[in-house]
Amino acid sequence: MRPRAPLGYLLCLVVLLAAGCGGSDGPPEANAPSSPPPSAALPPEATPSPTRTVPPEPALRPLPAKLPAGLVRTTGTGRVALTFDDGPDAAWTPQLLDRLKAAKVTATFCVLGIQVRKHPGLLRRIVREGHQLCNHSWNHDLDLGRRPVAVIRADLVRTDKEIRRAVPDAEVPFYRQPGGRWTAHVVTVARQLGMRSLHWSVDPQDWARPTASVIQKRVQRAARPGSVVLLHDGGGNRAATLAACPKLIAALKRDHGIARLT
Ligand SMILES: [Zn+2]
Repeated sequence: MRPRAPLGYLLCLVVLLAAGCGGSDGPPEANAPSSPPPSAALPPEATPSPTRTVPPEPALRPLPAKLPAGLVRTTGTGRVALTFDDGPDAAWTPQLLDRLKAAKVTATFCVLGIQVRKHPGLLRRIVREGHQLCNHSWNHDLDLGRRPVAVIRADLVRTDKEIRRAVPDAEVPFYRQPGGRWTAHVVTVARQLGMRSLHWSVDPQDWARPTASVIQKRVQRAARPGSVVLLHDGGGNRAATLAACPKLIAALKRDHGIARLT
């Protein structure tokens, strides 16, 4: 009744305030670094795969709340660039190369040393068909950036040597840290070895195996002039990424143009 109304009103207010402030399961705040949207994510790209080895130490993991300075995240032009990580892979890379050739576009391949050792012929084909190379570490050690500088350097050099064993005069202008788990140390070592640190600006999270149509929509929705798009041709089943490619590439060509990173 009437005298009770203010009390009920007050109770409602308290409940509303509590829900608003304390709800930990609610949607993330716009700028919460822990839960960025797929298009802007700096996520772990780690998925279990036969090509990856168990880290030698208990996982250090959580890192990138803030990225170090000096990363390449856009092409610097209006055109967008495609990057493919974790190969070369015997099952998926040849099919991807066929698709890129059919679409008359070139891309950047961020290769693992361990994969190059297995498939030097595929690396030669990548280079022969006009694509760009990027060192992606020896075996995808997500915590490489926090290991001693000598260990970081040895890993990058070993990968570089494997690339040059397959293609002696290969240019490797970029390094990409596995999982985007950059540290200032790894950026510095890469620079000392003549490589720019290549991040990305569009991540459809194809490593988590969404459908082809989801991959395509995520890329199209997030792409802006100059975007660097992160995709994978290795590290697991890439059927959906491959299936997404024709439409995805056509849309990017139409909206922005696609150019290899330089
Ligand atoms: Zn990777």
